[in-house]
Amino acid sequence: MRIDYQSVSKPKSYAFDFCVIGGGVAGIIVARELVKKFPGNSVGLIESGDMTLDNLHNRALKDVSFSDLSIKRNSREFALGGATNTWGGLCTHFEDFEIQGRNYLEAHDWPVSYEALNKYYQYASQNYDVA
Ligand SMILES: Cc1cc2nc3c(=O)[nH]c(=O)nc-3n(C[C@H](O)[C@H](O)[C@H](O)COP(=O)(O)OP(=O)(O)OC[C@H]3O[C@@H](n4cnc5c(N)ncnc54)[C@H](O)[C@@H]3O)c2cc1C
Repeated sequence: MRIDYQSVSKPKSYAFDFCVIGGGVAGIIVARELVKKFPGNSVGLIESGDMTLDNLHNRALKDVSFSDLSIKRNSREFALGGATNTWGGLCTHFEDFEIQGRNYLEAHDWPVSYEALNKYYQYASQNYDVA
């Protein structure tokens, strides 16, 4: 069921067992996994944008600027799918060196090993058609 809050004059309240905020790739996958893992429970996915990029909310939030940081207009998209509406579509694994710390940045290793990630990569490639 899809409820479009822009077209309702008096919004109703809804209760869900799980509520995911944000319908980008992360939110959509979390919502889908919750549906699979907890059948019989209700899952709400709340998206602030619309079904397409050409929506009022997205247009209004395009021109964001900070004093010393320029932000590209396509770096965020407020619509179902989020930034995947304009992304490059490259879905690939991290490599070992990417999750290791960088001495020159004084950054530490990720607390997640490549081996731990690997079982999720296998799940993602089987269930989400990514490499
Ligand atoms: C130009 C570009 C190219 C890219 N190319 C690649 C690539 O090739 N490969 C790759 O892996 N990654 C790529 N990325 C990065 C990738 O697109 C993002 O990391 C990913 O899409 C982020 O997904 P997300 O769900 O975390 O966030 P988002 O995609 O930002 O989604 C967040 C969603 O939440 C909604 N939202 C925000 N606030 C609220 C609120 N208060 N209430 C309700 N909803 C809200 C937004 O409308 C949006 O739909 C690219 C990014 C850009 C900008």
